[in-house]
Amino acid sequence: MAGKDDDDGPAIGIDLGTTYSCVGLWQHGRVEIVASEQGDQTTLSCVAFTDSERLVGDPAKNQVARNTSNTVFDAKRLIGRTFSDKFVQAISKFWPFKVISGPRDKPMIVVQYKGKERQFSAEQVTSMLLIKMREIAEDHLGTTIKRAVVTVPACSTDSQRQGTMDAGALAGLNVIRIIPEPTAAAMAYGLDKKASSSGEENVLVFDLGGGTFDVSIVNVAKGIFEVKAVAGDTHLGGEDFDDRMVKHFVQQFKIKNRKDISNNPRALRRLRTACEKAKRTLSSAVQTTIEIDCLYEGIDFYSTITRALFEQLNIDLFSKCMEPVQKCLNDARMDKSSIHSVVLVGGSSRIPGVQQLLQDFFNGKELCKSINPDEAVAYGAAVQAAILTGQDCDNENSKLTDLLLLDVTPLSLGLETLGGVMSVRIPRNTTIPTKMEMVLSEHQMIKSIDSDNKTSIHIQVYEGERTRTRDNNLLGRFEFCVPPAPSGVPQLTVTFDLEVNGILVVSAEDKTTGQKKKITVNKRFYITKQ
Ligand code: ADP
Ligand code: MG
Repeated sequence: MAGKDDDDGPAIGIDLGTTYSCVGLWQHGRVEIVASEQGDQTTLSCVAFTDSERLVGDPAKNQVARNTSNTVFDAKRLIGRTFSDKFVQAISKFWPFKVISGPRDKPMIVVQYKGKERQFSAEQVTSMLLIKMREIAEDHLGTTIKRAVVTVPACSTDSQRQGTMDAGALAGLNVIRIIPEPTAAAMAYGLDKKASSSGEENVLVFDLGGGTFDVSIVNVAKGIFEVKAVAGDTHLGGEDFDDRMVKHFVQQFKIKNRKDISNNPRALRRLRTACEKAKRTLSSAVQTTIEIDCLYEGIDFYSTITRALFEQLNIDLFSKCMEPVQKCLNDARMDKSSIHSVVLVGGSSRIPGVQQLLQDFFNGKELCKSINPDEAVAYGAAVQAAILTGQDCDNENSKLTDLLLLDVTPLSLGLETLGGVMSVRIPRNTTIPTKMEMVLSEHQMIKSIDSDNKTSIHIQVYEGERTRTRDNNLLGRFEFCVPPAPSGVPQLTVTFDLEVNGILVVSAEDKTTGQKKKITVNKRFYITKQ
């Protein structure tokens, strides 16, 4: 394994979180989670632009109160989405920084940077974060790092995966593999357990983070991980719990002081920071205090909150977390009793109220908390990076050599057929990589005839679970021109080739003429060079 792999140096594993990111690498036969210069194992996924510099992580957060509109968080939520996307419209309303529509409806973040107005795509902001994670690892190792495995939420669409790859490229990193976060966590868990368990195990990974929620069922047998099903919610997490607490205190402030702070971004930001801290405390204590000096118009704000009240404010959200658990079991055609281990991942999985509901759902089963929930994803990504680059393969006792990672499609992929019907070619939860070929029958084709009497067949690729394509997500389209043939009917073969990174290549071939056409559907977003 000498040669090219060694020349490219070590590869790192990056958990690119919506709220916190984490970096791990394989060293001395084990994973090391690398601490930042502040000594933290995780780095806030936050980038701030000032008159003189760009700040990432804690330094960005520390200046947020005086530079609110130029401090960008949650950029990951914009990756691979359009500005007019309903989700983007809904969440960007609450952000203190400005988002506008750029080329091809791409969302662009507008900030004041070094005295000028600048626009950045979500991929560009994310690349700044990736650069930071790379630097943390480089400072630790003292060498340059060129390659990484990066994780994405389990329910990511194709364009979100592609956007993450693009962000990696902008950061000067060769992203050698994109893996879903719960898959990475299951790998971390499996590696831990491998020595002690010889049989087969079904692991349910419950990953509740700051902004996303992923559930997956992973089958682990003899070092092979196979994701059986994934479910989740792309906008449910710790920030929603913070929101509830913020609303509660805004109301309390109104009653106490007859003043409404809800239109003051700076006051809200400070209140939110205090609420997040209080929430963390309530995972181990039953009561805590909030103290903010000069919150609004010189008024200090002091209050208390109990764990019981926090749970009461959020109980519907906690319950909502159980729905994807059931859906995931249904998709995997498994009963609760087939799950051997329930693994907690993500900072919000520390909340006692959430743990209680999950434990009740599994009829009192003990939950696994042996893996640090903040580090498990980066740990798994680092393991995957080491496998792919052949690190440690000279070591006979290495735990890595007999591991293999399988993965599944998070959403069904298909074609539009006549009448706007979604014709699924690759069903959700199919193991990746996969390839599917079909002959398009005439009654399925969507055709148009132009003035020269040329027939075009329209190939439109969608992802989603609804029966009508208009309710699903259009990934890409192309046209196939066929000359008026005497036989009339073109013989069109359509192939769906889903590669290991989740990148989909759709190709069509007319068997009668030999004409071929293909698209890589995730290339539909436009990236501006920095
Ligand atoms: P992501 O993967 O979405 O970036 P993480 O898994 O790092 O998120 O989780 C971040 C979330 O976890 C934040 O909302 C944070 O407030 C929350 N969190 C972290 N520690 C705790 C804790 N001890 N109790 C409750 N919530 C916590
Ligand atoms: Mg996470």
